[in-house]
Amino acid sequence: MPIRSNLAFKTRFPICSVCNEPVELDTAKVDEGGNAIHEECLVADISIRKATTLLLKEREKMPKVGIIHFPKQSSNS
Ligand SMILES: [Zn+2]
Repeated sequence: MPIRSNLAFKTRFPICSVCNEPVELDTAKVDEGGNAIHEECLVADISIRKATTLLLKEREKMPKVGIIHFPKQSSNS
């Protein structure tokens, strides 16, 4: 039995866009871009994106320190 046939069998699977490992068709999921992806990679990817989105939203809420200019109070008020 040549080893090549084993490799050929492996490469029949689509490659996961997250971890670059072959995705078994019965567990394959498809991401937003239509790429094959492991279910666990999809979940991990979504949770990372959620965390990133939350972080970005939190940062948007925060005042941009260094850009804020307080109005100068006139001394003769
Ligand atoms: Zn994967």
